[in-house]
Amino acid sequence: GSVMEKVLQRRSLRMRNMQRGWQESPDGNKMLEFRKSLPAFKEKERLLQAIARNQVVVISGETGCGKTTQLPQYILESEIESGRGAFCSIICTQPRRISALAVAERVATERGEPLGDSVGYKVRLEGVKGKNTHLLFCTSGILLRRLLSDRNLDGITHVFVDEIHERGMNEDFLLIVLKDLLPRRPDLRLILMSATLNAELFSSYFGGAPMIHIPGFTYPVRENFLEDVLEITGYKLTSFNQIDDYGQEKMWKTQKQLAPRKKKNQITALVEDAVEKSNFENYSPRARDSLACWAPDCIGFNLIEAVLCHICRKERPGAVLVFMTGWEDISCLRDQLKAHPLLGDPNRVLVLTCHGSMATSEQKLIFEKPPQNVRKIVLATNMAEASITINDVVFVVDCGKAKETTYDALNNTPCLLPSWISQASARQRRGRAGRVQPGECYHLYPRCVYEAFAEYQLPELLRTPLNSLCLQIKSLQVGSIAEFLSSALQPPESLAVQNAIQFLKMIGALDENENLTHLGKFLAILPVDPKLGKMLIMGTIFRCFDPVLTIVAGLSVRDPFLLPQDKKDLAGTAKSRFSAKDYSDHMALVRAYEGWKDAEREGSAYEYCWRNFLSAQTLQAIHSLRKQFIFILKDAGLLDADTAINNKLSYNQSLVRAVICSGLYPGISSVVNRETSMSFKTMDDGQVFLYANSVNARYQTIPYPWLVFSEKVKVNTVFIRDSTGVSDSIVILFGSALDCGDMAGHLKMLGGYIEFFMDPTLADCYIKLKEELDILLQK
Ligand code: ADP
Ligand code: MG
Repeated sequence: GSVMEKVLQRRSLRMRNMQRGWQESPDGNKMLEFRKSLPAFKEKERLLQAIARNQVVVISGETGCGKTTQLPQYILESEIESGRGAFCSIICTQPRRISALAVAERVATERGEPLGDSVGYKVRLEGVKGKNTHLLFCTSGILLRRLLSDRNLDGITHVFVDEIHERGMNEDFLLIVLKDLLPRRPDLRLILMSATLNAELFSSYFGGAPMIHIPGFTYPVRENFLEDVLEITGYKLTSFNQIDDYGQEKMWKTQKQLAPRKKKNQITALVEDAVEKSNFENYSPRARDSLACWAPDCIGFNLIEAVLCHICRKERPGAVLVFMTGWEDISCLRDQLKAHPLLGDPNRVLVLTCHGSMATSEQKLIFEKPPQNVRKIVLATNMAEASITINDVVFVVDCGKAKETTYDALNNTPCLLPSWISQASARQRRGRAGRVQPGECYHLYPRCVYEAFAEYQLPELLRTPLNSLCLQIKSLQVGSIAEFLSSALQPPESLAVQNAIQFLKMIGALDENENLTHLGKFLAILPVDPKLGKMLIMGTIFRCFDPVLTIVAGLSVRDPFLLPQDKKDLAGTAKSRFSAKDYSDHMALVRAYEGWKDAEREGSAYEYCWRNFLSAQTLQAIHSLRKQFIFILKDAGLLDADTAINNKLSYNQSLVRAVICSGLYPGISSVVNRETSMSFKTMDDGQVFLYANSVNARYQTIPYPWLVFSEKVKVNTVFIRDSTGVSDSIVILFGSALDCGDMAGHLKMLGGYIEFFMDPTLADCYIKLKEELDILLQK
């Protein structure tokens, strides 16, 4: 005890000397001056006092006022200054990985230190953190995971939950857990930070916690709606004649009287109706859906191009931030701009992208100053709305849509559709233009459409399947799932909760009494969707771990097969080359990954990716995720240290198919081969379609009675992504006993396998079992 105390005291003194040294140095002094100019600084004393006196404080302030980078730092500095630096441990959560890294780096710079000294970060797969780290930025998911094994957050003194106004699922979940924890840890401080003014909601959730607002200074931003944009740019919507028809005020007036949810669908319906009428046959439903603009056809991109041209030709210097729906649109537009005489000229325009799946090295570029006389244009998803601040933005182009996941509880189907943003988001986007000087915002939708937007977005907890969440709740040992969730800020529908519980029972993670099974406990540890976790575990049990590892990593990162809009056919052909009559997207993924590893060894990875329409970045991410999984599985005792990893796909294909099936079940559809066509039906008798880029979509017939699939998504109609053909015997043994109807017995069997594996005395039985299975599977 007291020895430790002395060590910490000595370290605290050292921290104080370092801090003072830096602040007195010329560079440190300059930095301090900058920090003092931020609006948060004026509230510093008030904030520190409120935090000292109250267990929970809610802080609001506009984006850029210094919440994230300053407030946790104020705590750290004041602890260091009072000689207690080494005794404090501050955690600040971020909804996204990219912001966790960006703010940690910024704070380390402000403190004149390398990352990993007193300031660190941790996100899934990556992190920098040392034994002297006392301020840690992490994703909210990371903190939740920590709470699984450390229920009281022992040793943590302050927790900041940032960006709570976004109402992300993890943040809402964290708040329930922390609320429950506070009475057990009276010394723990909880600080909630929000970019909008709706702090009352959170304050009353925590029994009237004090609220502090940081008045921010932003420059005025002029707002232009579509009608103004058309005038400014002289752009003509010639191919879209119906604009006057539905652009009229009176149509929207009736919309305003509808409930917000309905209203949103109505807007889309109206716009779609107008599009239908104008007869854009050339565009596939998918292309239309994924387009960013309110007029879902290529007008969207051309209009953006026209606006960007206008800015580059006519406007004052300053960076441009373009809000789009997702990575597909962003890369499409980027390619289109490359061909433009002005916007594609690297001496005049620098086009950068900013989205959730970008590599961390790429992320840094967007914060940097462009060379002189070069205009920076950042194409971003709604990630740049609040959690990321690009300092020099003067112009904002807002397409008015964001890709939103919703969940149809009735049909138990997740949907991923670009949908209209809320008024709050539109305001937030506009505000990004007024950070350094008066700005300009171009909303690419009519004002009347803006007025019909919902006020706020629906919390994520109410629009996502709850499978993973319910599993985590169970492993927190907080009692009944339904009861726990009913104490959320806005509880989800009970049907959604029931669906999740039923799913967890079906895959064997919960028993009939809703208790975690042996399998469930492992699934809760793995940082992936429960069904993928199950696939991993089955892969270790059946000794075909290596290909399964790649599949699970691929499914939990994203698809490495690229699908450029203009080269869909070539890309599809390239992908099918990896299929070799496997009738499996999952195995194509494995082959693509293994090919990439070989190409890397030969130094030809770049050409390999280019030739095969593969994303090197995604393959790299899959590669690191594989390593991470191996580490976690070994740590959990599921993989013995010397298990041969190199049991390649050729080892036993049927076994790999079986393991894929065991994970993805009940994601399964029957294959109905007719003379001219194939059709697919899911278990609940729903008709589904194959994704265009699936290797199975290229065959006339599929010689398997079943396709197991990773995911079904509703985009107009219900599509199934990555699928693999499986035989009846696999479905009976590894899916469920479709014909025997003996689900419970089947699940017991799976549980039994795990017991086998964990108990070395049963190894002989296991080997016999495996032999029997092998014979069965190869018949
Ligand atoms: P908030 O969390 O309130 O939105 P931040 O703490 O993220 O604000 O940022 C405060 C200020 O710090 C910003 O307005 C910006 O001027 C500056 N800043 C933040 N991140 C960086 C960075 N990576 N590089 C340079 N300046 C930054
Ligand atoms: Mg912030």
